[in-house]
Amino acid sequence: MRKVKSRRNRSTEMKLIEFFKSHGIKGWRRNYPLPGKPDFVFPKQRIAVFADGCFWHGHDCRNTKPSQNKSYWDAKRARNQERDRLVTELLTKRGWKVMRIWECEIKLLGIEQFSAFLS
Ligand SMILES: [Zn+2]
Repeated sequence: MRKVKSRRNRSTEMKLIEFFKSHGIKGWRRNYPLPGKPDFVFPKQRIAVFADGCFWHGHDCRNTKPSQNKSYWDAKRARNQERDRLVTELLTKRGWKVMRIWECEIKLLGIEQFSAFLS
């Protein structure tokens, strides 16, 4: 579990940073101490953003079809998904809004959609 975390998809985070910058979205922090270690946190709005790598978190899209060791990956991803669910639940209980963005959906992310979420 620890290992998976450290292998978070960096490029996914970079894409989001680019998105924030290009749209002038401010107020986000990285490495903000919250359960589950969200990739980005907007402390003022109490919003936690997770950029989930499709492969690691088991998104049902074309990025996530390992050809080998299928049962191994299925089990690993099931654990990640369960952890994601628990983290979302915990943060929500503490009054945080949780946004999970799939790696493959970042390029589809619209600024209107994102702004609506932030406000
Ligand atoms: Zn995906």
